[in-house]
Amino acid sequence: MTLPPDSSSSISCVCGTSLPAELRSCPSCNRLVHATRLKQHVTDAERSESEGDLRGALSDLRSAQVLLPSDSRQYAELQRRIAHLSDRVDAGEDAARSTRPQNVGTPPESAAASKRPRWVVAGSAIGAAGLLAWKFKFVVVFLFTKAKLLLLGLSKSTTLFTMLLSFSLYWTIWGWAFALGLVLSIYVHEMGHVSALRRFGIAATAPMFIPGFGALVRLDQYPQTAREDARVGLAGPIWGLGASVACLAVYGVTENALFAAVGTVGAWINLFNLLPLWQLDGGRGFRAMSQPQRWLAVAAIALAWALTQEGLLLLLLLAAGFRAFTKGPEPGDRRALLQYGGLVVVLALLSAVPVPH
Ligand SMILES: [Zn+2]
Repeated sequence: MTLPPDSSSSISCVCGTSLPAELRSCPSCNRLVHATRLKQHVTDAERSESEGDLRGALSDLRSAQVLLPSDSRQYAELQRRIAHLSDRVDAGEDAARSTRPQNVGTPPESAAASKRPRWVVAGSAIGAAGLLAWKFKFVVVFLFTKAKLLLLGLSKSTTLFTMLLSFSLYWTIWGWAFALGLVLSIYVHEMGHVSALRRFGIAATAPMFIPGFGALVRLDQYPQTAREDARVGLAGPIWGLGASVACLAVYGVTENALFAAVGTVGAWINLFNLLPLWQLDGGRGFRAMSQPQRWLAVAAIALAWALTQEGLLLLLLLAAGFRAFTKGPEPGDRRALLQYGGLVVVLALLSAVPVPH
């Protein structure tokens, strides 16, 4: 879950006037209160963008934007630039840069291999194996970056401390093993949000656990577009799904019922987060969908219910049906619909996996 920013403090202008924190220009001298910092952020953003560091540029532009009065021309200009960069990140331009192999030979083409002499065919086979190894390296690099982020999150004291509090509460109810699994799967879900927030350069706090409730990440800046909001919101359940699949895979190999329990309960919790209400992740996904897409999401929930008869889906159906009567943005975001629909169906199926007692 993610919560919107909260600001409440006071600042003072260079002319000496004390101002409430939300004021960006001084009413007595008309100066931009944070002109120096503003200029620095914009310069940094331009440098990052020219170096191809899109998330760095986004992060700086967002930091610059919050220093401007929201009705100013500059604010609108920054908003336009942020939306543009954000679209480029969404199109995968940042990933293309960070995972582009350096000095790795392009695997040989295997087209028309049948007409070539045998040794060429053998060479192509080796090339294909090389391609496979290269793709595998891709997966390893991918997992390693995620693992690094997961470990990094644990170095934050608020996260670790509140996580231990939650863990001890759940321990008294369900025993330490299940409690540990539960807390870790909630943690993976939250880090999904953190990963997406970092990708879009949106400042946020480290995940904080609330014993008995779950966990949340408080945003320091608002996502700029409904699409960003949907990516950030749905990233939690996507990572949560990954944790659930991993648990059920371990169960498949070891037949240890504990992993089945953590995997299915984890899937159920992530499904709950897809309720399209309040600040829940599903609400963020829904915001980016057009009205027809919302009806398709309702259909996906109905399908999931037909497959599993999971009671929670009736609640989702009710909330989604209600939201489907409201207008959405035009055109809606197709990826938000695909992610939402896919998550609902797969999570419902996983939560229905029978757990041995
Ligand atoms: Zn969430």
